[in-house]
Amino acid sequence: MAAGTRGAGEKRTVAFSRDQANVFFHVLTACNLRCRHCYIDPAQHGDQTLAADTVGRWLQLFAGPGKSPNLVLLGGEPTLHPDLSGIIRRARSLGYASVTVDTNGYLFHDILDRVGPEEVDFFSFSLDGASAGVNDAIRGEGCYRRCTEGIRRAVKKGFGVSVIFTVSSINRHELAAMAPLLENLGVERFFIQVIGLRGASARDAQSDSLQVSRDQWLETVPSVAADIAARGITVSYPRVFLKEDEAFACAGQVADNYFVFPNGRVYRCPLCEDFALHSLEIADGRLVQRPPINEKDLFALRIPEGCVMNRLVQPGNLSYRPDGRPAWRIACCLLKEEIFAGDVLK
Ligand code: SF4
Ligand code: SF4
Repeated sequence: MAAGTRGAGEKRTVAFSRDQANVFFHVLTACNLRCRHCYIDPAQHGDQTLAADTVGRWLQLFAGPGKSPNLVLLGGEPTLHPDLSGIIRRARSLGYASVTVDTNGYLFHDILDRVGPEEVDFFSFSLDGASAGVNDAIRGEGCYRRCTEGIRRAVKKGFGVSVIFTVSSINRHELAAMAPLLENLGVERFFIQVIGLRGASARDAQSDSLQVSRDQWLETVPSVAADIAARGITVSYPRVFLKEDEAFACAGQVADNYFVFPNGRVYRCPLCEDFALHSLEIADGRLVQRPPINEKDLFALRIPEGCVMNRLVQPGNLSYRPDGRPAWRIACCLLKEEIFAGDVLK
């Protein structure tokens, strides 16, 4: 294998890197759906739709000479933004290395006709079931049909298409059935996420029952991921549980991720987004550090359970031995396993 290539089916843990920044930009928080596990909270994230020129100025704060981050455009539903195509072109002109649009599949404002595959690297569709029954119980009536139609249209137009599946106790049994569906739809990449106790999930009266146990996760996700990768689809999923001999690292300290919200809050950790713990904010058009106490102070703490924010907001996924030591450590939620499907690194 030449340098820079990976063998098909090879599994690897994607190490954190400061070499490549990632900007996750919520251009609005409005959405046409009301998914059961939505993490958007207008009280924390704002309810405004940012004007396209404001988004352009904010994008400039993270790009520039020597800096070409990856951009993920999010909402709410980002295609509800009337000038998403202009925002995508602005990001390109600023030198963003890649542009991905995360969508629920409704693809408002004819977005597939207003941008081209040379401008958007991936449209990433959220689908939480291999059948309408399971998906729509989580995401809303009619959503499965609209989302799969949207995927087919995007593939037909030549866009790179990925799918995001959030695993919970409601849909875990349908993860394996995603393999033939993804293959049939022509999806290139598949992202498996774990449901967190955040946003709507945290407010859900049955939130505990939505969680997937460690045993359920380990017995389902790695094997299904391998099956899907064997069909030519690159799969990534969060590591969640660290092995005994593995070092813990907090992306807030060793990686370069920015989670930007319409109210100007900028987080370095997604698990902090339910709280006013953001370490940065955009004020008067500048990116400024916030004073303590904020998420950065938490990143610096070292605890035997691994991730500090996990310990604070979703301790239900921890377990302790009789001597009080944790039975396992929780990895940073941003640490991913990836099974590469192709022959060469794209
Ligand atoms: S589509 Fe996304 S933003 Fe909209 S309700 Fe569902 S999870 Fe929330
Ligand atoms: S999820 Fe945990 S380990 Fe990862 S950035 Fe947040 S606090 Fe750090």
